[in-house]
Amino acid sequence: MRESHVVLAAAILLTGACSGSEGSRSTAAPAPTTEMAASAVEDPSAELRSTMVARQIEGRGVRDPAVLEAMRNVPRHEFVPERLVEAAYGDRALPIGHGQTISQPYIVAVMSELLEIEPGAKVLEIGTGSGYQAAILAEIGVEIYSVEIIPELAAEARGRLDTLGYQVTTLNADGYFGWEEHAPFDGIIVTAAPDHVPQPLVNQLAPGGRMVIPIGPVGAVQTMWRFAVDDTGELVGERLGSVRFVPFTRAEQ
Ligand code: SAH
Repeated sequence: MRESHVVLAAAILLTGACSGSEGSRSTAAPAPTTEMAASAVEDPSAELRSTMVARQIEGRGVRDPAVLEAMRNVPRHEFVPERLVEAAYGDRALPIGHGQTISQPYIVAVMSELLEIEPGAKVLEIGTGSGYQAAILAEIGVEIYSVEIIPELAAEARGRLDTLGYQVTTLNADGYFGWEEHAPFDGIIVTAAPDHVPQPLVNQLAPGGRMVIPIGPVGAVQTMWRFAVDDTGELVGERLGSVRFVPFTRAEQ
């Protein structure tokens, strides 16, 4: 493996489709005084997302317009436990049960941007968790496949994605083995930290595709990497900064 340049100088530390605003232009309904007032009534959380994107995401250098738009549209508060709804747009990861977390908004945005994918690309996520990262990618227009190892979380995320209308294909399995049936993938995003790159994931990466993955020891600070297979078939890794993720676990062998 070859290691190339550092992309993000600063350490990124993880402290951790339907937006509901459609139809605000209906001509049949009484005319709202302003479009702003109409959308605020229909979706009061839109403003919280707008502020979240401006301060936490754009303010820290994420520029991809599709990522920013998706982060403004996906109702993050629907992906956190009821008692944490008030904290949904805060600058941190939040617990989602079973010792797992929904990543900090900034991390979700950075990882999505690092994939450098276009609408229609095929992406594999390992670690569905709440389903939030998968929903962001679906909102961008990506064909998204997501694998979760904890059955309860997999089932909850499935229900949530269906209710909200996000097109995500999910699987309850050990993501170490990727999802051979749907390979190759233009992008692979791993949202739990293994201590090495799972070889099956490398094998399932399309030529020119990218894998974004935190790697490092359990319970310590890990390193965010982006890997790509170059023209000669060699795996090239870029070290992107320090992060803290939940461990990548393995099914009983
Ligand atoms: N992307 C998620 C973040 C979830 S945290 C979100 O947006 O909410 C990471 C998730 O990875 C956890 O749900 C954990 O159970 C899962 N995970 C850990 N090891 C895994 C493995 N080997 N295969 C699939 N999922 C795994």
